[in-house]
Parts: sequence; C-alpha cells; structure tokens
Amino acid sequence: MPSYFPSDYLLRFLAGHSKYIVTPPSFGIIASILRAATRLSFGDMGAWAVRTLEMMWKDDFDEVTEDHIQHAAETVNLTWDYDIPRVRRRAFYELLRTKNFGQDFDLRDDDVRASARLPVEEAGESLGDRAENKYAANGTTVNGSRRRRMPRAALLSRDDVGRLIYAREELLDAWIRITATFPDSVVCPSASDGAQYSAGDGLCFSATDGVGASPVPIGKKTKGRVCDTLSRSSSSLRWAALVHQSGTFMQYKYDPVLGLSALKKLNWSKNFCKTCISQLHLIWDKERAKLWVYQLDEWLCLNRANGAGCG
Ligand SMILES: [Zn+2]
Repeated sequence: MPSYFPSDYLLRFLAGHSKYIVTPPSFGIIASILRAATRLSFGDMGAWAVRTLEMMWKDDFDEVTEDHIQHAAETVNLTWDYDIPRVRRRAFYELLRTKNFGQDFDLRDDDVRASARLPVEEAGESLGDRAENKYAANGTTVNGSRRRRMPRAALLSRDDVGRLIYAREELLDAWIRITATFPDSVVCPSASDGAQYSAGDGLCFSATDGVGASPVPIGKKTKGRVCDTLSRSSSSLRWAALVHQSGTFMQYKYDPVLGLSALKKLNWSKNFCKTCISQLHLIWDKERAKLWVYQLDEWLCLNRANGAGCG
C-alpha cells in the first residue's frame, strides 16, 4: 500500500471539512486525498487536490524565493503517477537547488558504492530501490550504523536523477557564463560623444547621486565620478568585487534563477549610472525568463516521458 493512502482524510473531506477549501492542508493530506480520490474515481476531489498542488508549486520564476518548498521529491513522483505536468517544473527546480537533490545516498559509504557497482537487475530497478534495500525497515544499515530512513514516496527514479544531473550541469554552465565578466553589450550613454562628455565634466554621476540621479548638464561642475562602464578595467574590478568576492556567485551556483534576482540587489549605484544599471537588469531579466520558460524544460527532458534521449 502506498505511503499516502489513509482514506480517512478523504472521508473527512467528504464529511464537510470545508476548512480544506479555505486553508489548504499539509502536503501529506493533499497527496492522500489525490491517491484515494483517483482510486475511488472521485473526480472532483482529485481535481481539487491537483489545483491545490498547483497553487503550492506555482510555475512562475518570480515565486522562487529563499524559502524552499518541502516534499519536492514526493511531488515529482506524484506528477508522474497522476499526470500533473504544471507542477513538475517548479518541483524539479526545488530539487535542483537542494543538496543531493534531496536524496539520502552517501557515496562515501562502502555499502552504497558496492550497490552502485551491481548490475541493475541485481541492485534493484532504481537508485530508490537501492536505497530502499540498503536502509532496512528499522533504519539500520548493513554495517550496523543507524540512519533516518527516507520515505519510499520521496525516492526518485533513476530517470529523474539522470534528468537532475544533466540539468544541474547545464544550469551551472549558464550561471558561470552569465557571471563571468561584465557584459560587453552594456553601453554607457556617456560614451556616445566623448568630445562632450568626459570624466568629471559632463554626463556622469557622483557616488552620492545614486541610481535615481539625473544626468549632470554639460559644463556644470560635478562631484567627479564617471560611470565605471566607460573603463573596462574599472567595470571588471567592480564586477569581480560585487559578483564574486561578495560570495554571490558561490551562494547561487545551484540556484541561478534566484541568483539573477540577487544580482539586481547588489550595490551597483555606487559606480554605475542609471542607464547602465537598467541595461544590466534587462539582461538578467531576459536570462531568468529564458532559463525558466525554455531551457529548464529542455535540460530536464520534461517533454519526454521516460527521459530517453536527454542531452
Ligand atoms: Zn553608464
């Protein structure tokens, strides 16, 4: 019997527990209702459970925050078992930015390494099966140590682990490309007419003017700072300080969707003009949308039911 099939939740729901409509229940209860409603052909209850999951896992990159949503692996398994495609991308992304994809395999463990070398038919059908075999019912491993046992519903299939490995590599490549250097495509308006606008005398911004500053009229004495975009060495130094030395690159290496939002919050206004900052924001917004709308589906092979041909 599946882990989530206490049909009393469904009975309570049918008995008029409208509180579930007003305040969504926990993930475990939603999953239980979905399984029971499907088995008993209660279409409306199943549809409610699916809608609730879709609200929980909003398919929108603006909904990705520092707060992680729990039960991502269980949700991925539910999306395959009950055909819930609109939940899949968000749940997979949660796993992508989670250590070990939320799985409990430790390759430093001799027993897991030995299991991984076995032919598939001997080791089990999936990594999940291997983990299930290894961590017996009482949570004791072969070598006697005790570990917390993962619920079976949270064990990912080998196909899904493969999707995650490939997608994480691609995401990391994208993050490295985006954060490598100050973008060449940014053009400061101060550079369009060098004869009129020069350092300290023209269309430039002081450190105290900030993002909201207006261009200083030509010939008017300024506070003496020009936008760092005008100097490749200055922009490179500032980029390295803000993106890399601040730790932002490392912090978001597995979460570039949130990382691209974090880049916008760095203190660019001290050294770059409003126009250049706007161009940077536009570049990062486009990258974030491209990652979420197009590339994630491709890298996760979400249009291929069994993952065949990924990569
Ligand atoms: Zn500029």
